Amino acid sequence: MNGLVDPHNRRLNYLRISITDRCNLRCRYCMPKEGVSQFGHSEILSYEEITRLAGLAVKRGIDKIRITGGEPLVRKGVSGLIQKLSLLPGVRDLSMTTNGVLLREFARDLRRAGLKRLNISMDSLDPRKYREITRGGELNRVWEGIEAARREGIHPIKINVVVIAGFNETEIEDFARLTLKEPLQVRFIEFMPIGEGSEWKPEHCISWRDMKERIERISPLLPLAEGENGHGGPARLFKWVPSAGEIGFISPVSDHFCGSCNRLRLTADGKLRTCLFSDAVTDLKPLLRSGAADDDLEKKLDEALLTKPLHHGPMGGVMKRCHLPMVKIGG
Ligand code: SAM
Ligand code: SF4
Repeated sequence: MNGLVDPHNRRLNYLRISITDRCNLRCRYCMPKEGVSQFGHSEILSYEEITRLAGLAVKRGIDKIRITGGEPLVRKGVSGLIQKLSLLPGVRDLSMTTNGVLLREFARDLRRAGLKRLNISMDSLDPRKYREITRGGELNRVWEGIEAARREGIHPIKINVVVIAGFNETEIEDFARLTLKEPLQVRFIEFMPIGEGSEWKPEHCISWRDMKERIERISPLLPLAEGENGHGGPARLFKWVPSAGEIGFISPVSDHFCGSCNRLRLTADGKLRTCLFSDAVTDLKPLLRSGAADDDLEKKLDEALLTKPLHHGPMGGVMKRCHLPMVKIGG
């Protein structure tokens, strides 16, 4: 069976699956303050439907799966889904992105179900600012979640920090210093203009080069060779020597990585998105729910690949093209 190759000759081996559009936080950069209208129960794919689609994608060469949301840990039975996905032959990397708020309660089950690694979003080290950016979150819950995940042997743990000028940019150095003692990979992410209700303005965005420069005022960073840790993804990785952790930069705004994009996204309501920044989607749910054969679903997958753009173009226009807020897409 052929692999998943798009018209620009990129081989796709990474599937990000959003399992819910619900969330227990309301991060300012991700969703509007009034929240978003949520999918009804029957609108979202069941775990059986997700597993079926993931199985077909894996058969066609997907070997990396990330579970995301909304907040994936608010959907009941998520460990059961992880277990099913971990049993698909060919999945070599199964991970999750979470805000960590419920991780203390779930870390053990997730590990037992086969989850190997985690990305945890944490945009401030200051409890007051964390509450502000998440509109009400408790930072200590995230730290407890990180501790629990470590105790269960989940590794690596990556911390995602969306850097916003005038808000948490003053914490770049503190986050970097965290890697001196903690075996964490702190990844600084450029603030992306996604969704119509986004508070994004060009002046809120700090480029990865500026962030790196600030960190190097403390001490120069050693670049890590591609593949040295095997899990960099789109991040440029560095470290201070000696330090327990690593520092990464993800630059979708100032220096996009479209040329090497290997991703597909499946939204909670069964739409396949070939580009985070494009509203072109392929709805798989009608086929799934009308008793379609695997061959038909695979044909639809192939059709969807034709919509994958070569690159997403300049960021200023992105909000015009991508209407959905991030919480509906999955990051
Ligand atoms: N709720 C989970 C979490 O927060 O980790 C998973 C879903 S969240 C949409 C996935 C990732 O998208 C998070 O790391 C979040 O920081 C990131 N994200 C959301 N909106 C963003 C934006 N406008 N720019 C950059 N990253 C964003
Ligand atoms: Fe929820 Fe994650 Fe979006 Fe924050 S970034 S509102 S935690 S989905």
